[in-house]
Amino acid sequence: MKKYNHFFFDLDGTLWDLYTNTEEALRILFHEFNLPSDPAFFSDFYSKYHYHNEKVWALYRVGKIEKEVLRTIRFERAFEEAGHPLGASEIVRFADRFLDVCPKLPHLLPGAHELLAHASKNGKLHIITNGFKEVQGFKMEAGNLNQYFDQMINSEDVGKRKPNPEIFEYALKKAGAAKEESIMIGDDWDADILGARDFGIDQAFITHTEQMQLKLSGGDRTNQVRHNYSPTFTVNNLSELIQHF
Ligand SMILES: [Mg+2]
Repeated sequence: MKKYNHFFFDLDGTLWDLYTNTEEALRILFHEFNLPSDPAFFSDFYSKYHYHNEKVWALYRVGKIEKEVLRTIRFERAFEEAGHPLGASEIVRFADRFLDVCPKLPHLLPGAHELLAHASKNGKLHIITNGFKEVQGFKMEAGNLNQYFDQMINSEDVGKRKPNPEIFEYALKKAGAAKEESIMIGDDWDADILGARDFGIDQAFITHTEQMQLKLSGGDRTNQVRHNYSPTFTVNNLSELIQHF
């Protein structure tokens, strides 16, 4: 079995449960903003939000959309398509409030603590995230994750986002890690898996996010990407990685 000494983890959707935390934050905000309490409206809005959120994050990764636009447009489009458009200033207030509330919610993916406790006995743990710098620390704190990690590499510090090889280069250099003793663990096919593969380190693909997307699209696989590459490991549950780490 290969021995890894450096574990590079993505945060959102890999350790920190993006879907559960987002749902909880949106429920809090719906109440605060007096939005329709009809459960059917909420679930329609929720799936539309994720659809647009994924789309704008993909653009953000390649520098095709500004952070300030991303923050609001995902909500603007979701409310519009759900048939309940909000005014421009209310959208800004909603988007600001979302970033206040959501990152402070604590839900992690199943098995996160067990895997991190195990891996941190065998090597050093690092975060590589494209997430907004001002909120990622709150998520680490809320999830009680700081205890395991040596460092957090934020794309905003590097000026490059995953899958750009420069962010991986920067992270390994900062960790004093060699490629052959390093692995990237993430839920994003392009940013984490292909990014790490092209940079030249092993990859563990967490399929949780893709499963959630499939569920929210009602099982419609037409928009699903077909992967024609097998990562080093592919798992749906973090605890399945314990045997390899
Ligand atoms: Mg992620």
